[in-house]
Amino acid sequence: MKRKSVAILAATGAVGQRFVQLLENHPWFEISVLAASERSAGKKYRDACAWRMETDMPKEIGEMTVVNTDLKAVKEAGDVDIVFSALPGDIAGPIEESFAVEFPVLSKAAAHRMDEDVPLLIPEVNPEQLELIPIQKRRRGWSGFISTDPNCSTIQMAMTLKPLMKFGLKRVVVTTMQALSGAGYPGVASLDIIDNVIPYIAKEEEKMETETKKILGTFDGERVRPADIAISASCNRVNVKDGHLEVIYVDLEYKPTIEEIKEAFRNFIGEPQRLKLPTAPERPIIVRDEIDRPQPRLDRDAGRGMSIVVGRIRSDPVMTIKYLCLGHNTIRGAAGAGILSAELMVAKGYI
Ligand code: NAP
Repeated sequence: MKRKSVAILAATGAVGQRFVQLLENHPWFEISVLAASERSAGKKYRDACAWRMETDMPKEIGEMTVVNTDLKAVKEAGDVDIVFSALPGDIAGPIEESFAVEFPVLSKAAAHRMDEDVPLLIPEVNPEQLELIPIQKRRRGWSGFISTDPNCSTIQMAMTLKPLMKFGLKRVVVTTMQALSGAGYPGVASLDIIDNVIPYIAKEEEKMETETKKILGTFDGERVRPADIAISASCNRVNVKDGHLEVIYVDLEYKPTIEEIKEAFRNFIGEPQRLKLPTAPERPIIVRDEIDRPQPRLDRDAGRGMSIVVGRIRSDPVMTIKYLCLGHNTIRGAAGAGILSAELMVAKGYI
């Protein structure tokens, strides 16, 4: 298969850099265009971007010239089959729409996540939401489309809730400890976060509470009916570079044993595993039995950053069970999620 050409919008940011890193040597995709703000346009990528990945910037990518984030500039800069958008949420809406008239746009931004005709996709959890794509194209008269990935802390929680739904999922309470890279680069000022925890992340709790219901909802052939579950989230920024840790309390209608819960997590696979997509982890959820896992530094790279690690699964005297889950926020929570979604769309003929 000829590799598909990929444009990255907001290629210089924390998520954009992760896209560049993960797409190096990708078997299906190659980067053709890098776009960012006017501040970066016209510069070589290596000069425009404060590279903060653990691996070296790919040489040929560093030599590419960054272009402005508008349709004409991007089309003139190279071939495009797929657009990955890592734009800031407050400006992403109209820009993504302008690209979607012609191209598949896979977005990391919040702007379109709750639109009725836009998938809010986690490939292992709700691939049926891809069926919104033809509905959206017809309704909006576009040859392209917009598909979104959920918020980073929501993705990892929703992946662990999906296998629990068969036990009658009723109520969820979650407290997050979220990494610094989740705030982008340069993000939170060092003097605010050293020796500290910040008990507020703008709009995060609302996103976890509303997006999860759409992700776990039922597609009825026309639209997604939100899942009937109550969710309460408390979000905190902690002094960790990558990897969100979440404490989750779940109330279940039926009362499975802890071993049944572990089995449900361990056996959970989805379309990406069945289709053997290049970015799919072998196991979407890894269960750790040690008393003190998961930990961000030790577990965030599990499954090349695409697995969610759960641990400390135990009964709860108020709800039914409680556990912790850990996910890499810029891989499974962002760029890796976008790439896996694109792979699923290619495999299923949506791109
Ligand atoms: P970031 O590090 O602050 O990067 C912001 C990016 O947006 C830069 O590439 C910047 O380009 C570009 N940009 C800013 N203003 C622009 C404009 N007017 N036109 C075009 N480009 C513009 O942020 P980030 O963490 O990568 O987040 C990007 C998006 O992903 C956000 O919507 C965020 O909510 C979402 N997200 C982030 C994470 C995470 O873990 N970080 C996870 C999930 C989702 P310049 O360098 O040229 O200024």
